[in-house]
Amino acid sequence: MTDTTDLSHYWMPFTHNRYFREHHAYRMLASAEGAYYTTTEGQRLFDGLSGLWCCGLGHRQPRVVKAIQQQADTLDYATAFQMGHEPVFRLAQRIAKLAPQGLDHVFFVNSGSEAVDTALKIALAYHRARGDASRTRLIGREKGYHGVGFGGISVGGMVANRKLYAPAMIPGVDHLPHTHNLKEMAFSRGQPGWGSHLADELERMVQLHDASTIAAVIVEPMQGSAGVVIPPVGYLQRLRDICTKHGILLIFDEVITGFGRMGAMFGAQAFDVTPDIITFAKGVNNGAVPMGGVIVRDDIHKAFMTGPEHMVEFFHGYTYSGHPLAVAAAHATLDVYAEQDTPARVRELAPVLEDAVHGLRSEANVIDIRNFGLAAAVELSAADKPGLRAVRIFEESLKRGLLVRFTGDIIVLAPPFIASTDEIWQMTETLKEAIKAAG
Ligand code: PMP
Repeated sequence: MTDTTDLSHYWMPFTHNRYFREHHAYRMLASAEGAYYTTTEGQRLFDGLSGLWCCGLGHRQPRVVKAIQQQADTLDYATAFQMGHEPVFRLAQRIAKLAPQGLDHVFFVNSGSEAVDTALKIALAYHRARGDASRTRLIGREKGYHGVGFGGISVGGMVANRKLYAPAMIPGVDHLPHTHNLKEMAFSRGQPGWGSHLADELERMVQLHDASTIAAVIVEPMQGSAGVVIPPVGYLQRLRDICTKHGILLIFDEVITGFGRMGAMFGAQAFDVTPDIITFAKGVNNGAVPMGGVIVRDDIHKAFMTGPEHMVEFFHGYTYSGHPLAVAAAHATLDVYAEQDTPARVRELAPVLEDAVHGLRSEANVIDIRNFGLAAAVELSAADKPGLRAVRIFEESLKRGLLVRFTGDIIVLAPPFIASTDEIWQMTETLKEAIKAAG
């Protein structure tokens, strides 16, 4: 057996590598089934974040596993450049049907980061194809997370990323203010009533830069990685109205909110606001094989198909775009979503999670609790060092058989859609003990 304290070769992503060595014993995953992982020590962990927001149907969903196995045995790989395979055409059709009306065309990629960079390229190329090449400015939002590509970190609002790679940022990017305001909206249940006016900052940016220079605005309908920041009532609609008024494309990054987590197939439907472009990944195939994609409005697609004739209309794609295994997993996942009416199940469980998580309100150091659909966050005041309290809670949760995620001093919960009411209550009870133990 390889020594798992030896990190001389394996470089872990988004992980404090040096610290991992001390804690590796209970952090080695061996297998998974349904809502649980099992570690190499034989400990069962409730997966409080559905993988990384992706395994809503639970791990090793039998239909998904079977679909991948059968596909691997039939057509393991198919180049998507100049060639096609039937299931990928059918998958695009199914996703277009599930997406908000008017968003009809799907471009497949392999991750959320790729989906974001692809969407930004589409936005810029669309304006150029229409003969409006001066629209090059992109607007993101503070605290936004749009993956790790250079496009994504440019429009994203994570300061650490932006500072480090400053010279490589896309030029001409501005950021809307975030909507995370503890003074005005702490302990809101669902969408906060305060904050829709923050969308008006976009109007100010339009005045500042002139609409004719702005290509697109990109936001997560619900900010996931920032710690489940729920859009204030009316906020997304105001962004929509301003974008429409000024011919600016509105992109919803639905990598987390897509495919059920908000209680509808897309966040756009849950919040009843239709963007021009949607990015997705994760839940499209239950996280079983890497996959992402971009869904665009019909006339955006048309601009590419009726533009000047080249050998290809959009000079973009990935070796693994529409990978047969990912596509097969997606078909099986969408079958199960449809048969089990997954969004309805999420809407049923959402009030359970809301009650359970807000039950932590009186615990020491808890300064905010937020929730929508099957996503929730518990924010704590910082201990001696920012982030330290959340790390301790993460460790104490693990010891008690619960895997959560932390960002800063925020604990994030996104249980699988297949979780029972009891499991959701058990999850927050365990978190309560962990908060107490962490001090
Ligand atoms: N966009 C959003 C909104 C995300 O939450 C994430 C990942 N959590 C990404 C993009 C990046 O996805 P990936 O890690 O698959 O590149």
